[in-house]
Amino acid sequence: MSRPKLIAGNWKMYKNVAETADFLAKVEGFQGAELLLFAQSALLSLFANSKLAFGPQNIYWEEKGAFTGELSPKLAKELGASYALAGHSERRQFFGETHHSAAKRALAAHAFGMTAVFCVGERLEERDAGQTMNVIRAQCAPLFEMSPQAPAGFCFAYEPVWAIGTGRTATSAQAEEVQVALRAEIAKHWGETAAQNTRILYGGSVKPDNAKELMSCPNVDGVLVGGASLEAESFLAIARAAKG
Ligand code: PEP
Repeated sequence: MSRPKLIAGNWKMYKNVAETADFLAKVEGFQGAELLLFAQSALLSLFANSKLAFGPQNIYWEEKGAFTGELSPKLAKELGASYALAGHSERRQFFGETHHSAAKRALAAHAFGMTAVFCVGERLEERDAGQTMNVIRAQCAPLFEMSPQAPAGFCFAYEPVWAIGTGRTATSAQAEEVQVALRAEIAKHWGETAAQNTRILYGGSVKPDNAKELMSCPNVDGVLVGGASLEAESFLAIARAAKG
C-alpha cells in the first residue's frame, strides 16, 4: 500500500497574477509532503517554472473543437498540469455538472496524461436522511461504469457539501467513516489492491488547527483545501501537519 499524503489547494476564482507569483515564491522550497494547487486556467502558465504540482479546476473531455469556454485537456497538459479537479460541488451546484459529465472530465485527465482528483460528497439534508453513502455511490456509478479498471494514480476527494466554505468541518470520525466506506466501494469495482493504493482526500473547511487530526485518520490520505489555501502561511501550516 502506497498512499503518501497529498495536500491540495483549490484557489477557486480568487487569485490574480501578482498574488500567484507571490504565493509560489513563498511555498517553493517546502519539502516533506506533496503539494498541489488547482488554479484558474488563465493562471496555469505561471506555474511553469515552479516545482509545485498544479492543475485546472475543470477540463473538457474533447481534445479540441467548438466548445466555447471549455479547457482542452491537451492544452492543460501542454501547460504543465499534472492533475485536474473534476466534479467539485460548486461545478455541480452552479454549472450543471452531472455525475456523468464529472466522470468524463476525470477520465479525460487520465487519457491526456494527468491525474484526476474526483470530488464526491453529500448535502446536509442527505446526511440527515442517512443517505450519505447512497449519494456517493450514485456520484461514482458512471465513473466505475466507464472505467472498469482503476486509472493509475486516480484520487478521490470526499467533500461533504455542508462543510465547504462554511467553517463547519466534518469530525475526523465522520471523515474516516465515509472514507472507509468509499474505499470499500472502490474495492468492489476496481479490486482490493487498487482500492488500497487509491488516495482519498478529505475537503471541507480544513484549517491549520484541524488538519493534523483529520490526517491522522488511516483513510484520510491528504486534504483538499479551499479558503485556507489562499494564504501561503496557512497552506504550509496544513502541509506541515501532514508530516505528523
Ligand atoms: C473546496 O473548495 O474544495 C473546499 C474544501 O473549500 P473550503 O476549504 O473553503 O471549505
